[in-house]
Amino acid sequence: MYDPKSLKAEEFISHEEILETLDYAKKNKDNVELIDQIIAKARLAKGLTHREASVLLACDIPEKIQEIYDLAEQIKKDFYGSRIVMFAPLYLSNYCVNGCTYCPYHLKNKHIARKKLSLEEVEKEVIALQDMGHKRLAIEAGEDPVNNPIEYILDCVKTIYSIKHKNGAIRRVNINIAATTVENYRKLKEAEIGTYILFQETYHKESYEKLHPTGPKHDYSYHTEAMDRAMEGGIDDVGLGVLFGLELYQYEFAGLLMHAEHLEAVHGVGPHTISVPRIKKADDIDPDAFDNGIDDEIFAKLCALIRISVPYTGMIVSTRESQKVREQVIRLGVSQISGGSRTSVGGYQEDIRPTDTEQFDVSDQRSLDEVVHWLMDMGYIPSFCTACYREGRTGDRFMSLCKSGQIQNCCQPNALMTLKEYLMDYASEDTRKVGEALIAAELNHIPKEKVRLICEDHLQKIENGIRD
Ligand code: SAM
Repeated sequence: MYDPKSLKAEEFISHEEILETLDYAKKNKDNVELIDQIIAKARLAKGLTHREASVLLACDIPEKIQEIYDLAEQIKKDFYGSRIVMFAPLYLSNYCVNGCTYCPYHLKNKHIARKKLSLEEVEKEVIALQDMGHKRLAIEAGEDPVNNPIEYILDCVKTIYSIKHKNGAIRRVNINIAATTVENYRKLKEAEIGTYILFQETYHKESYEKLHPTGPKHDYSYHTEAMDRAMEGGIDDVGLGVLFGLELYQYEFAGLLMHAEHLEAVHGVGPHTISVPRIKKADDIDPDAFDNGIDDEIFAKLCALIRISVPYTGMIVSTRESQKVREQVIRLGVSQISGGSRTSVGGYQEDIRPTDTEQFDVSDQRSLDEVVHWLMDMGYIPSFCTACYREGRTGDRFMSLCKSGQIQNCCQPNALMTLKEYLMDYASEDTRKVGEALIAAELNHIPKEKVRLICEDHLQKIENGIRD
């Protein structure tokens, strides 16, 4: 039918195939025999096709949904253990030439203060983030070739990596900037960025063009093929996402999985991460103006289904979601969350959360320390680990580690050691107590004795003041 290898992303993620998929899913939503077969296939943890996963999304039989949730939880445990990777967004500039109708950065919005960080301000922001304990950032910027050219982004990345402050350095900078050229992706790769993240916003071309009426982002093909150009430029960790609320979620879900299938078929490696943002209230933006909003129940189902459809892909949830929702989706498959986030340009240097340049309302407004404490209370290990990237384990090399099951012997100790560093250097007394008890208990879950002993030795060294 469709040969992902020979088609461009836009051709592969075709409107016709998505409509046929939705039709197939609707017709089979009560076909228990087929649903059982698909769930049985998902149990093998090798993933599902967009058609199979769409049938499960359409199914509303309570017992089957429960089976899907249980399986998502199991796959999450098997592949990610109890680790949750922590990061924070860093907004560099809200200058933007696009006309995205859902984003407060849109060019015509005259009542938002426009701001771009100087390199000195980047340094101050990064020091504030390091003082919280962050090691991993996702940088964000509007699209503006004059104010935010690629050279500016590269200078910011270089500055961020160069700041050594107290015990910390930022070890991984992920980038969420507009679609660009192969040449620019190559430059980003040379600057040693982590994941290149770009949300598709919507896979529905007609809606996409309406939602992006003006500016370079209007070009659906250029946007949809960005990940192929990124991979051509040498970036092998790419992060997909759609902005839920813009279009029908069933449509977006099929499109998202087809995009993952396309990357796997053409480049031999699927997306490193999938983000699941939902549209939020923001300056000049009323989310109710978009009539495809999804409730928390559907949101949880989508997260569970992404987990079982692409078991090796990390899943990210931001502070757009509340504590309650985050709690549910972390259980069902989310592996990375942000904490202590500010979505305003320059927001981390302010004592009080600024709102004048904020990109969207933050639902989870807790500090990083509170988020870390909360995760540990639920038995999770907040991880500040970036070892894979420093060892060059990206793209297919990361995926093979994940598929080999060795992640427990590798990531678990690393997570514990980075948590120990966090507890010693940044945590409140109460959080430290909870964390020390968690580390002691979790050491026993490292399968190989030799690895456990090495880990114990490193933990002692961290206790004695030695830092990585
Ligand atoms: N400018 C870059 C681009 O065009 O891809 C990316 C940076 S933008 C700061 C990051 C993402 O924020 C967008 O891709 C969009 O999905 C999301 N976003 C925009 N407006 C939003 C809103 N009102 N609520 C929630 N998320 C929003």
